[in-house]
Amino acid sequence: MYNNTKQRGPSRSSNYSSGGSRSGGASRGGFSSGGRSGGRPSSGGNRGGGNRNKRKSSYERIDVSRFISKSTVIEKEEIYLPTHTFADFKIDAKLKLAIANKNYIYPSPIQDKSIPHALEGRDILGIADTGTGKTAAFLIPILNKIINNREETAIIIAPTRELAIQIETEFNDFARGMKIYCVVCVGGAPISAQIRGLRRECNVVIGTPGRLLDLVKRGEINLSTTRSIVLDEADRMLDMGFINDITFLLEKTPTERQGFFFSATLPKPIEKLIERFATDPVKVMVKTRDTSKNVEQDVIRINRDSNKIDILCELLDNEKEFKKVLIFSEMKHAVEKLSVELIKRGYKAGSIHGDKRHNDRQRTLLKFRNNEINIMVATDVAARGLDIPEVTHVINYEIPQTYDTYIHRIGRTGRAGMKGVALTFVG
Ligand code: AMP
Repeated sequence: MYNNTKQRGPSRSSNYSSGGSRSGGASRGGFSSGGRSGGRPSSGGNRGGGNRNKRKSSYERIDVSRFISKSTVIEKEEIYLPTHTFADFKIDAKLKLAIANKNYIYPSPIQDKSIPHALEGRDILGIADTGTGKTAAFLIPILNKIINNREETAIIIAPTRELAIQIETEFNDFARGMKIYCVVCVGGAPISAQIRGLRRECNVVIGTPGRLLDLVKRGEINLSTTRSIVLDEADRMLDMGFINDITFLLEKTPTERQGFFFSATLPKPIEKLIERFATDPVKVMVKTRDTSKNVEQDVIRINRDSNKIDILCELLDNEKEFKKVLIFSEMKHAVEKLSVELIKRGYKAGSIHGDKRHNDRQRTLLKFRNNEINIMVATDVAARGLDIPEVTHVINYEIPQTYDTYIHRIGRTGRAGMKGVALTFVG
């Protein structure tokens, strides 16, 4: 195991489980035991130079107390009684078999409420977050259309490469043996291979907005014959500055097509976009699981003389608890630097961020999923929407810019009824 090979960082005297802050060290849970109350937690510890100060000025002021929550009650999963079984859906028998092979027994609420309408050809507006089963909610009706008519085509637009690939994996599970193919068109991967894929027989294109736009402009994707379009995580695409790209793509689709619009929230520009491009959509809202209730949240106080990375390593050395750890940092280069340093110190770590090549990101993700590495350092954008099982800890090595991002980060742990821990370094 990796603890045998690992070089330990300099030994420290601090004890994270106790409330007291020691000289040069850190304390966990310090807020509740006499720490500075409220205010921007990093304001005093912002010693990283002018650049960093500038970036921080756009930060939301987050009260440190919001990073602390001892309530570790594991939320009882609300039992949803679906009104359908997959057998009830008017879908092809081959598709029913594929669903059974994936061990999906009951439709999730979003599937239960939207699939019957989607099968009738209605547009769908799904207000649902990741983890709700939204992918199958659009893939099942789309695949059923293609099974019935091999001329059917669909385009699925997702904010990140990782999400696009997750959708592809699920698509391939459902379409196994049906001779129905998809092609993934995302940035950071060679466009020539994607063009070859598009020129072969394929019914479904899954991609990120920028690359899809490029391929449309090159004449490799013809949206005028698309019969279905999916916007997955529309609000994230807005956050990432893709609103003009997705508007352009939607404008190119015919009016006689089915639209699936999924978004966790409904900010005004997305609401307007859907108003413009959806025809009388069936609105399905699914209560997003409040995973934060399953997450014990605490802060690691660091002071001026603390060596942050040593403190981090002391935590990671507790391998019994810190089994699978996702660490967030703000900038791509900071993520890379931290991951390189952890590897140098003997930890099984990897990183995902926007500067990494697509294949490298995929490889790291797979290793993290398969527990070949147990530490992944990531930027927010790279980790968005990922469904990685059994993450025991989320560590905010740097404070997120907004509380919304914080909630999103900590939602990577405490999933599927398991307890998770989120720790935030504050200065
Ligand atoms: P999604 O929100 O589409 O990313 O799905 C989240 C997770 O739930 C994925 O791991 C899916 O494979 C899984 N899932 C989706 N629908 C079902 C279902 N009806 N039964 C069991 N698992 C499901």
